[in-house]
This record gives sequence, structure tokens and C-alpha cells, in this order.
Amino acid sequence: MLAIWKREVISFTNHQYLVANIFIPMVICFAADRTLGKLVKWLRILGFDTKFGINVPANRFDAHLEKNRIVLTRTRAIKKQIRTHRLVFITSNHLDMQLRQVITEIGICLADTRPFSRCIHCNDPIVHVALEDVCGLIPDYIYETHNEFHKCLQCNRIFWPGSHFRRSLERIENLFD
Ligand SMILES: [Zn+2]
Repeated sequence: MLAIWKREVISFTNHQYLVANIFIPMVICFAADRTLGKLVKWLRILGFDTKFGINVPANRFDAHLEKNRIVLTRTRAIKKQIRTHRLVFITSNHLDMQLRQVITEIGICLADTRPFSRCIHCNDPIVHVALEDVCGLIPDYIYETHNEFHKCLQCNRIFWPGSHFRRSLERIENLFD
């Protein structure tokens, strides 16, 4: 798991201090330019908070992005402007190669991912919803054949593990071979 060791000084009495190494899981989140729509969708499928098409002039990226967001771009002009954020300059046109580049350069492992935990449209985390709460909101045959549903509270879309689910999981596992 991607994490950092942080050296922390803990006060446990008025005059005594303990210096400890604390293991802190690193929150991996991204911001991608408008040329990387498919990559953004798949990073969200993997569970990573990924902003898309940051709608500010490239020379103001730094001021508009949280400090820990990793910028993904294929645009040289943006690459030149980014000074205070970690950046991955995407070199391939192919989705699998793009994903592998991000995984390799950032050092992501399978344990860092949370597949299907985020809305691919809104980027918000999705929440579990009870069967009775989706009655009438989804096709009858889906309601009768599934018992696990999630919902995006931003766009109200309802998600369930369909046929694409297994194929996507296989694709994810292949990325980390
Ligand atoms: Zn949504």
C-alpha cells in the first residue's frame, strides 16, 4: 500500500515527549486535463478521486488545485505551467498504456484501489442502498435478480454488479500483473 512514514512528536506528560514513526496511508487523488476522458473514467472505476477537465487557465492550475492532487496531462503547455504539484505526463494514446504509466510512476498497487466505490460520472463516492429503496427505480428483472445496490447521492444513479463488472475486475487485475 502506498503510504508515508511520518516522524511525529507526541507529548504524553507536560515535559516528556515520545518520538514515533507513524504509518499514514497516502490519499491518492488526481486532476486530469480534457484530453484524458477515458483515463479519468477508469481511475474513478479504480476508486480514485479524479477531477476532470480542470476548468481554469493552465497558468492558474497551481492555485486552484489541492496540494496533494497529482496532475495528469498530455499537454506540454500545462506540463510547463505546473510547478507545485506532482505531475505525470501521459505519453500514450492507448488507455491500458496510460493506466500502466500512472500505476508505475505513482507506485500504485492493487491494495490501493477500491474498485466500483465511486460514481464514474460525478466522481463522488457511492453509498450502499437497501433493496426496498430502489424498488420502482430500476428495471423489474434487475430488482428480482440482484440484492446489492449502490447509489450516487450527487446524480441519483443506481449501480449494481452487472455483466461488465466481472470483465472490469479482470481488466483491473491484468493491470497489476
Ligand atoms: Zn453520480
